Amino acid sequence: MQHNIEFEPFTLITPNARMSPSVHGGRAKCLQRLIRLDMPVPTTVALSFDTVREIARGQMPEMSSLLEPFGDAPLLSVRPSSADSDWGGPGAILNIGFNNARHRELTEKIGLEAATALYLRFVQSYSVVVARLDPEQFHLPDAPTEAALRSMLEAYEYETDELFPQDPAQQLAEVLRSMARAWDGTTARLLRQAKGAPADAGLGLVVQAMAMGVGRGKSGSGVIQFVDDKTGEQRITGRYLSQSQGREALTKTKEALFITKDDRGLSVEEELPEVFAQLAGYRDLCRIRLREEMQIEFTVEDGELHVLDAIRVQRSNRASVKIAVDLALDGIIPTDEAVMRVDPAILSELLHRQVDPSATPDVIVAGIAASPGAACGRIVFTANEAQASAARSEACILVRRETTPEDIRGMHAASAVITVRGGITSHAAVIGRGLGLPCVVGASDLVIDRKRKVMIAPDGREFREGDVITVNGTSGRVLAGMVPLMEPALDGAFRQLLDWADEFRDIGIRANADTPADAQIARNFAAQGIGLCRTEHMFFEGDRLGVMREMIFAHTAEDRRAVLDRLLPMQRGDFIALFQIMHGTPVCIRLFDPPLHEFLPADKSGHRELAEQLSLPLSEVTSRVEALTEYNPMLGMRGVRLGLSYPEIYDMQARAIFEATVEASRSGDPVVPEIMIPLVSAMREVELVKSRIDAVAAAVRAETGVDFRFRYGVMVETPRAALRAEEIAMHAQFLSFGTNDLTQMTYGLSRDDAGRFMSAYVQAGVYAEDPFHTLDVEGVGELLSMGAERGRKGREDVVLSICGEHGGSRSAISFCRSQKFDYVSCSPFRVPAARLSAAQLAISDRKISASV
Ligand code: PEP
Ligand code: MG
Repeated sequence: MQHNIEFEPFTLITPNARMSPSVHGGRAKCLQRLIRLDMPVPTTVALSFDTVREIARGQMPEMSSLLEPFGDAPLLSVRPSSADSDWGGPGAILNIGFNNARHRELTEKIGLEAATALYLRFVQSYSVVVARLDPEQFHLPDAPTEAALRSMLEAYEYETDELFPQDPAQQLAEVLRSMARAWDGTTARLLRQAKGAPADAGLGLVVQAMAMGVGRGKSGSGVIQFVDDKTGEQRITGRYLSQSQGREALTKTKEALFITKDDRGLSVEEELPEVFAQLAGYRDLCRIRLREEMQIEFTVEDGELHVLDAIRVQRSNRASVKIAVDLALDGIIPTDEAVMRVDPAILSELLHRQVDPSATPDVIVAGIAASPGAACGRIVFTANEAQASAARSEACILVRRETTPEDIRGMHAASAVITVRGGITSHAAVIGRGLGLPCVVGASDLVIDRKRKVMIAPDGREFREGDVITVNGTSGRVLAGMVPLMEPALDGAFRQLLDWADEFRDIGIRANADTPADAQIARNFAAQGIGLCRTEHMFFEGDRLGVMREMIFAHTAEDRRAVLDRLLPMQRGDFIALFQIMHGTPVCIRLFDPPLHEFLPADKSGHRELAEQLSLPLSEVTSRVEALTEYNPMLGMRGVRLGLSYPEIYDMQARAIFEATVEASRSGDPVVPEIMIPLVSAMREVELVKSRIDAVAAAVRAETGVDFRFRYGVMVETPRAALRAEEIAMHAQFLSFGTNDLTQMTYGLSRDDAGRFMSAYVQAGVYAEDPFHTLDVEGVGELLSMGAERGRKGREDVVLSICGEHGGSRSAISFCRSQKFDYVSCSPFRVPAARLSAAQLAISDRKISASV
């Protein structure tokens, strides 16, 4: 109500009228801008949100003064004007004021048929939309005859016991009332709230004199825009309905694109060159003064142009990047504004294939959207089948209960992955994101019958091996059949936007990359180094798994060392490749982390195969597997605990890193590797590992005669490491918070099993969000700030970062900036969005501090 003090209930829109989008809505305000730009906008009056609320309550404004600007016999349109055009609103109603007198007058001017067609359309929409009569009774006839008009007017009279209203004021009052009430309806309310509208969102209405686009000379109506809404490229598109009285009736109008001639050879550009030039000029004006690409709605009456409305061009995500960049390149908006205009979340659409939004999806099951993008392929149930399928060049979707490291080769071969179990940090999710492979995890309503090789959907439908399905990793849905996909679009505008973002960003962005292929992607996305290389992933590649298994079965340290010597050149080769690809930017290598049992087959037939490969009795294989079995492997012998129990493994890795450092520095930029120790919980662990690694470094220096530097770091992923960060930092130049394990251990939640109840927990509001997905700033965040503060006490210049899956998200980046962390590290495909989010946060902060 407070606006009533300042604003009139309705306002004739003039260049200087007092108007505001929060009082009259976006459309009304935009029309004022067009009027200020001297565009030929017909007389328009804006009704404020408060006025429309009053109307809904039955309190009409003073109709005679409302109608005054429109003259004696007005013909009007009414359109909605809410604060945000995305919130929808009642449809426009045109030709209010049409009556018998107007029908006669127009018959003179444009002919009986055209005038009757217009009257029929108005009676129909008034009856159905305003008087809410049964649409069945008000079909538009094939031919707009006087008899048809009479019968429609009679139908109105029969249904309402009243003559069709002839008074424009009465018609307008009813239209305003019906639109005000429609906005208050439950469905409309729910729909707009789903789009983010507040519960008390207001509706303004815009009453405008009709410029119908009919006349004796060249007349018609249309819309035009000058950019392509899919690509954002400069391209004129639109629609024009011409009406040339005497040659054609309104009902027989032709539709002609602006640039493409229709079959009569009609092109607006040729037929109405002055109008076209005027429109092109208005578009330039909109760009420069409204700083937007606008779609212009217009009519032409006897060759004269009227601009009815202009709205922001609807655009795909790809087009929104291109439009923002072009506006900045043309100097219309500053580059920081271009950076702010693009939502980082949409970048993933530009990086991955997506399901075409116009496709009708047949959903088999929904799970957690773990890795974005979409892919179609034939169902396979094992990694071997996936590889066989890839060998036949057939796209396949790997469907598993959950994936284990053994499945990695199958994942490489598949086009997408679905798992029944697991959450956002489960194995399949982490690997999927690393590979840029669409992935849906935790699809717990899916049943896999491995024997029959079928998966059973919640509705009972069965999908067999070989059936084609589509995985939408962006929405978390699995769809039946081959659904049309849209290709990714990494164009110059995308790169330009991110280059600008980097100029504003004040926190580093690195990538989690395990293989040369990952590193190359990270490099292409301009990651400032590798923040986490999970070296164990290298052991699953090619023939290394076999060697790894031999190592696990070795009886003595000496035997283990002998087998590890065979892995050494392979690891060295991996690191050389990583260093070369990263061109001297930092590469942080995490020493071996997972429990050993992950490298052994889980079932009987796998044990038998392994026994054959290693020439061992089956019983020995089985008993070794049993010996390695732990109740809680995630809390068991993994990370530094394993490193201390089998020190030969870390020795080999350190040697491979140092030899690769020497080798890569010989031919390229000098390399300063970073070595990170996982799952630390006590300072002594760091000391012990460090002394061995120092010894290996000394040995390599002596053997090669080459000096090199390297940096030590600790992964802070147990609560105790965060609490003891001060003394740990005395032995570590950097601390990288592993928020996956830290979240797991802070909550006491299994990252692999929490998916089972997580959605119920979030729905019930127990957790605001899945903490594996969105960093829990309150709890885990407190450990991070405590760890950071204590770490800095132990070493003033300790480098701080996070490298868990949260690293790429806006909220985690915001948190890390607030704690003055040096960088975040995330999957390569999340690097672009992270760069943009970080820049936007820095720009917002700068604006806030400038305004204080
Ligand atoms: C972590 O725990 O946050 C982490 C990055 O390591 P991983 O996911 O490999 O356990
Ligand atoms: Mg971890």
